[in-house]
Amino acid sequence: MIKFDVITIFPEMFKSYMGESLIARAIEKKFIKINLHNLRKWTTDNHQTVDDRPFGGGLGMVLKVDPIYKAVKQVNKDKKAKIILFTPRGQKFDQTMAYKLAKENQIIFICGRYEGVDERVAEKIADMEVSIGDYDLMGGELPAMVVIETISRLVPGVIGKKQLLEERISKSGGFLEYAQYTRPEIYEPQKGKKWKVPAVLLSGDHKKIDEWKRSHGKVIEKD
Ligand code: SAM
Repeated sequence: MIKFDVITIFPEMFKSYMGESLIARAIEKKFIKINLHNLRKWTTDNHQTVDDRPFGGGLGMVLKVDPIYKAVKQVNKDKKAKIILFTPRGQKFDQTMAYKLAKENQIIFICGRYEGVDERVAEKIADMEVSIGDYDLMGGELPAMVVIETISRLVPGVIGKKQLLEERISKSGGFLEYAQYTRPEIYEPQKGKKWKVPAVLLSGDHKKIDEWKRSHGKVIEKD
């Protein structure tokens, strides 16, 4: 079982995500575990303040280092977890990174908010800074869901039949994503328009079908 610990000021955002579909099943079957930690639990003032103004000026607020330090210390009891800080400046998340992270037993995600996180979290606490793409989101919660879901799909049993995953591993060791169609063979959205399924997929010729999948797909390299 792989354990994900999410440190966030919006744990409620994960409720529906964790309660639906394959992620809910993976939790129920104990393939994965997701623990949500409200960062405010590690504050010391009555207002449960997690943020402050940035030194040197600037618009917006920054998440403080102290509650994050205390949260990680408590959550990472045996000091073996991989600690990831989400930031758009981080290493770009992809399938190759997912394969590597899937080998971990515990991953702690620190979700930033506001104008970001005190840089000492990146310097002293996190093992990795991760971005899910070159765009700016409002927080690290969606990145955490993206990363958890991608890794969870690699845990044997999570997406059902083992062959489903194996079938998509290409000869080069990468992950093959290809175009797919289902019934009807010919779809007529309106009179005179016919959208057909490529004939090769209906041919029963598995060699040709395999070639077609490769030429209409993309290999996402392993490592
Ligand atoms: N200025 C901050 C920085 O350079 O890290 C970004 C602030 S952003 C508005 C608030 C938070 O959303 C970030 O701290 C980060 O946790 C998360 N975030 C935003 N875009 C992201 C992305 N593309 N990948 C990962 N996390 C992102």
